Amino acid sequence: MGEIHNLRCCKCGYGIEAWLGIGMLYHPDYIFYGSDPSLVELVDNKDISNQALSLLNSGIKPNDSYRHKLYACPNDFYLFSKFYFKIDDFESKYPCPYCKSVLKQVIFTKGTRGTTRLKFEDNDEIWHCPKCKSELLEEMAFGNWN
Ligand SMILES: [Zn+2]
Ligand SMILES: [Zn+2]
Repeated sequence: MGEIHNLRCCKCGYGIEAWLGIGMLYHPDYIFYGSDPSLVELVDNKDISNQALSLLNSGIKPNDSYRHKLYACPNDFYLFSKFYFKIDDFESKYPCPYCKSVLKQVIFTKGTRGTTRLKFEDNDEIWHCPKCKSELLEEMAFGNWN
């Protein structure tokens, strides 16, 4: 089951409704195989899905850590929810639509009371809002999806 996080900047309201995790229909057979693998739609980037499908066609198995994750641009800090997967050494890496930097995964970390912060997974740098530079986010809604 996946999680929906509606995250909003405490100061200016910038934010994202992020669908994270995996759903019930995310069986590897549907995502990676068959005549119409849903990977193509989940990734929504032909370069990435074509590379992935050619690896799969050569018999390489996907890692089972695939899921929707929260990403941010390390350059301009815009937030995105993207489908993460790994096949052998090939990992999904998405370009920022604004500046083309490679998006980095961010994870939840402690904020002040009632708020959350995000930090970049690979270097612990704290994320800040692209509009107003605040580090604090409020969770406006939280739910599950199937
Ligand atoms: Zn803000
Ligand atoms: Zn960017």
